[in-house]
Amino acid sequence: MEFEHLIDKDINEAKQGEALSITKNENSTKKMYIESYGCQMNFSDSEIVASILTKEGFSTTSDISKADLVFVNTCSIREKAEKTVRKRLEFYNSIKRDKNKGMIVGVLGCMAERLKEKFLEEEKLVDIVVGPDAYRDLPALINQVEDGRKAVNVFLSLEETYADISPVRLGGNGVTAFVSITRGCDNMCTFCVVPYTRGRERSRNPESIIKECKQLVKDGYKEVTLLGQNVDSYLWYGGGAKKDFGKASIRAQKKSLTFAQLLDKIAKINPLLRIRFSTSNPQDMGLDVIDIMAKHDNICNYIHLPVQSGSSRILKLMNRGYDRKKYLNLIDNIKNRIPDCAISMDMITGFCSETKKDHQETLSLMDSVKYDYGYMFKYSERPNTPAQRNLNDDISEEIKQKRLVEIIERQIEHSLINMKKRVGNTYEVLIEGISKKSKNHFYGRTTHNATVVFEKENTNIGECVMVKIVDCTSATLIGKIS
Ligand code: SAM
Repeated sequence: MEFEHLIDKDINEAKQGEALSITKNENSTKKMYIESYGCQMNFSDSEIVASILTKEGFSTTSDISKADLVFVNTCSIREKAEKTVRKRLEFYNSIKRDKNKGMIVGVLGCMAERLKEKFLEEEKLVDIVVGPDAYRDLPALINQVEDGRKAVNVFLSLEETYADISPVRLGGNGVTAFVSITRGCDNMCTFCVVPYTRGRERSRNPESIIKECKQLVKDGYKEVTLLGQNVDSYLWYGGGAKKDFGKASIRAQKKSLTFAQLLDKIAKINPLLRIRFSTSNPQDMGLDVIDIMAKHDNICNYIHLPVQSGSSRILKLMNRGYDRKKYLNLIDNIKNRIPDCAISMDMITGFCSETKKDHQETLSLMDSVKYDYGYMFKYSERPNTPAQRNLNDDISEEIKQKRLVEIIERQIEHSLINMKKRVGNTYEVLIEGISKKSKNHFYGRTTHNATVVFEKENTNIGECVMVKIVDCTSATLIGKIS
């Protein structure tokens, strides 16, 4: 039984293995099928890929057997994610063998970057391997394959942000959209493969971010989520890797723009545009960001603040750059400045050498914070990470799983406590779609990222409505339009 668990997973987040569809170019003869796995960044990247290929005359099909091109945008964060992709490749292989011999199969994203040419050798089906910074090269790589050659580009860039590419919004609801603001990560957490698969951290030109947000408003979108592995670390100084900021001219450094300043500018675009961001990293989140959140009503009262462990000893081994005390201090600052701010976390159980005492400290930290939601994982050792090279993955699967179940159960208790507190209150809810369970009900989210389900009455998707909460589960609020 698989115990890796996401609680209250945001409806917009990481719908695993979702096949995305492009509606443009419907008369095009070339058909593309793309499936995305993993984090929101991957889904956002697939929209960039779609934009690049739409210009090349591709449209999509939801029928793989009719596709000229099949791409899987992959995730390497845990072994399980990679196993899922391998299974999909076996499936594509069977389609190619039995029904669609000319089909080109490509692997995009983090797994492509991690396995590089090895992917072509291991997975005989794969024709194209493209890392996250090489999507502009896709048209040339496809031509190469059409000429009978295998194609690989896994070059990691210090500059690429795809700033000028307008993503084709795929599989969305026309109400909420992702806007990428940084790429890569410099934090070097010892467990994490991201710095090696997505490269060094760089920030996107703020003008292009603002232009994209303004266009989204014009197109009728009501909410944007600013995306990056570590959004608080955003720093625009004219382009280039964050690590090279010190080498920039004094003038460029003086004119630089931080995340708080970017957030302030985006919040001013339109007071009716809701703004969210993900992911924050506790070592980089400053009080300036919290103050800007408090200043603007349209910045949602919700922060995803991965903690990973409640034990300072483990946090040090993870190279997280903060300890328990500093993290709890940050939580206090958030709660003092934004009293009704919802907070969620990521937590890893069974990291190298984690003792019973470390695990108890994780549970006691959870008791102190009482997170609204949590995304919890068993530690999965990743090849070539500092933890894999320098530490022992010495906690048995059985103990990892037992501890995971304990933190999941604790989180469910806390989620329920927090949700119950909302019963009786009335909140503004942005309607995002029709409830999966009943076509007479809509679902939407409050500023706190809590999902609310309510009878449609005379409302429409994309509207903000006031909803009185009448009941709840640990995952969903049930309401009535007031
Ligand atoms: N950049 C964010 C941060 O570290 O604060 C999140 C990055 S990652 C895409 C999302 C989550 O996956 C992490 O916060 C962590 O909890 C989990 N994760 C990353 N590497 C992992 C590993 N090797 N094993 C288990 N979980 C892992």
